[in-house]
Amino acid sequence: MFGSRRRREREALLQAGFPDDWHRLCAERFPWVAGLDDDQRLRWERRTHEMVLDTFWEAARDFEVTDEMALTVAAQAQLLVLEQPDGSLSAVRAVVLHPTTIVVEGEHSQVDGLVSDDPTPILGEAVEHGPLLFAWDEVLHDVEHPEVGRNVVLHECAHVLDQLDGVFDGTPPITDPELARDWVRACTSAYEAVVEGTDPGVVDPYGGVNPGEFLAVATEAFFCEPHALHRAHPDLADVLGRYYGLDPRRWTRA
Ligand SMILES: [Zn+2]
Repeated sequence: MFGSRRRREREALLQAGFPDDWHRLCAERFPWVAGLDDDQRLRWERRTHEMVLDTFWEAARDFEVTDEMALTVAAQAQLLVLEQPDGSLSAVRAVVLHPTTIVVEGEHSQVDGLVSDDPTPILGEAVEHGPLLFAWDEVLHDVEHPEVGRNVVLHECAHVLDQLDGVFDGTPPITDPELARDWVRACTSAYEAVVEGTDPGVVDPYGGVNPGEFLAVATEAFFCEPHALHRAHPDLADVLGRYYGLDPRRWTRA
């Protein structure tokens, strides 16, 4: 009985559409909203609304998750998967927000296979089958300073897409064989440039850690510094554009 009541309330909220104050907040915060066509904007609003309602938003101790915070995370996550099939991020059932950088103590592994017990600062984390985790001050900083070229929400959600096939290897499931072939070629060559230190500085050097991190930071560059990425790595920008189905150059100043 409780379940069906909740379901009815959820349907009523979705029926009522994207709340006006959400429209205002997103228009202020995200210049890309104005760059979406009508079809894309309506799909993005519906999916963002669903993600805010359906996700379990959890706060770290002595912190509280507001609608504004949930909306800010969901809006960006749903931009990333706007041209992907419905439910591409349905593996994300919970999001945990911390007020600021999380320092992990004790033995842990942040990078596959490398175990450390040094205190490690974490701005965000995507654990397979687990919640997404973010430092709220970093989420907000990335939104307010897109010119820095970093975006922790896009970064962690790229990890979620990468792991849809159960493998953390920098290649999400790609059905188009031509794109799959071009993807491997473009990503391998750009990854090698990052590893060798010959990248012109568009893709964060952290991408050299492994192909999974490479995809995450290349995704950040694709959305935050699209013109520079297209100039430095046209093939990489091309495959990311075909995969994400978006061209962020449309809403980003050159
Ligand atoms: Zn990462």
